[in-house]
Amino acid sequence: MDHFLYRDSALFAEDVPLSDIAATVGTPAYVYSTATLTRHYHLFKDALEGLPNLVCYAMKSNSNQAVIKALADLGAGMDVVSGGEYARAVAAGVPGDRIVFSGVGKTRGEMELALSGGIRQFNVESEPEMQVLSAVATALGKTAPITIRVNPDVDAKTHEKISTGKSENKFGIPISRAREVYALAASLPGLKIVGIDVHIGSQLTDLAPFESAYEKVVELTHQLRADGHEISRLDLGGGLGIPYTRSNEAPPLPTEYGALIKRVIGDLDVEVEIEPGRLISGNAGVMLTSVIYVKEGEGRDFLILDAAMNDLIRPAMYDAHHDIVPVVEPEPGVVQLPYDIVGPVCETGDTFTRNRPMPPLAPGDLVVFRSAGAYGAVMSSEYNTRPLIPEVLVKGDQFAVIRPRPSFDEMINRDIVPEWL
Ligand SMILES: *Cc1c(COP(=O)(O)O)cnc(C)c1O
Repeated sequence: MDHFLYRDSALFAEDVPLSDIAATVGTPAYVYSTATLTRHYHLFKDALEGLPNLVCYAMKSNSNQAVIKALADLGAGMDVVSGGEYARAVAAGVPGDRIVFSGVGKTRGEMELALSGGIRQFNVESEPEMQVLSAVATALGKTAPITIRVNPDVDAKTHEKISTGKSENKFGIPISRAREVYALAASLPGLKIVGIDVHIGSQLTDLAPFESAYEKVVELTHQLRADGHEISRLDLGGGLGIPYTRSNEAPPLPTEYGALIKRVIGDLDVEVEIEPGRLISGNAGVMLTSVIYVKEGEGRDFLILDAAMNDLIRPAMYDAHHDIVPVVEPEPGVVQLPYDIVGPVCETGDTFTRNRPMPPLAPGDLVVFRSAGAYGAVMSSEYNTRPLIPEVLVKGDQFAVIRPRPSFDEMINRDIVPEWL
C-alpha cells in the first residue's frame, strides 16, 4: 500500500494534489511520501518483533538527506556502500553504531573515514580487503568490527544484473571457504569478528532463495562457533521485492519474510540485521512528468514525455516495468489506446515502454510513473545536459523541495575551461 491515490478523480500524494506540485515545482519531478516511507519501515520492525534486530535502510536506493533523516528519526540504521553515503548518513544525524558498511571495493580512505567517525561493522567481502582493513585500523589505533559476506551460491531468480548470491557473482567469499577465511580474520590484529553477512540480490519475489541462503548461514554459525569465533550478529541483507504492477504480481510481504527469518534463526541467540532498500523507498515515490507531444507513428503513436532515461534508467537498464497513470483519473470505460512512451533523449534506448494501453492523452497532460522511489533519482544523470530533476517530499498536506533543479548556469559552471585553451 502507498499514499498515492485518486480523490475526486485527481491523483494525490498524501493530502497534496500532484497537480499542485507540478504547478509549483514544474515537471519532471520525483515526489516522495513520508507516510509511505514510515509505514514500510514499521512493516519490517513489526515483522521482526521479538528478535533483537536492527533494520538498516539500504541508502543506495534513495539517499536524499530528507529521506534518510525521516527514517533515521524512526530509529533506522543505515547500510552504506561508499564514503559518500557514510558522510550522508552522518550528516543526517545517524550515529556511527547504527551504520553498516557494505561493498566489494572499499578504499583505504573510506575505511579511515568510517573508523574515525564510528561504525557498527564493515561487511568484508574478500581476503585482500580484510588485510587492508586490519592495517588501516591498526594504524589508527582502532579495531574494526567485521562480518564476512559469504556467497551461499543460491539462485535468487531475479534479473541477472541484480542477482548477487551465485558463485559466479563478484560478491562475498564462497561459503565453502568460510571457515578458513574466518580463521585468517581472527589472526589479523586490527579486526574483531562480530558476525556473518549475506545478501543474495534485489527484487526477489519468492522467499525460497532467502530460506536456502539463511539456512546455510545458520549452519555456518554453528561451525564457526565450534571453531571458537564469536558470532553475535547475522546481517541477512536486503532484496525483498515490491509489486511494480497493481494487477498480477504479489511478492511476499514483510510479515512472511519476518516469519521466515524467525523460523530459520530459531533460538540461535543472535542479533539480526536486515538491509532493505527498495521495499522501503520504492513505492514511496513517483516520477511526475508531462506530455510534450503526441506523435503519430506507423501503426502506433508515441507519447513523448519531458522525463527521459537519464531521469529514470530502470526501464533501459533492467527492462523494468513501471505503471504509468494519468494525474486526472480517466472516466470509467474510456477506450484505451496503445502508446510507445518515450523521452526526448537521442537514443532509442530512451523508451520507457512499448504498446502500453493508456487513456487518450494530450500535450500538457500530467502522468506519473509509480514505484519510482527506489533506484530512480539516485541513478539519474545530466545526460543531454538535462538538469537533474528536483525531488519533493510530502508529509500530510505539506510539501517541500528537498533537492532543487539546477539552473543551466549551475550545470555549465561546474566545468572549468583551462586558461591555456
Ligand atoms: C543493494 C543492496 C541492498 C538493498 O537491496 P534492495 O533490493 O533495495 O532491498 C542491501 N544490501 C546490500 C549489500 C546491497 O548491495
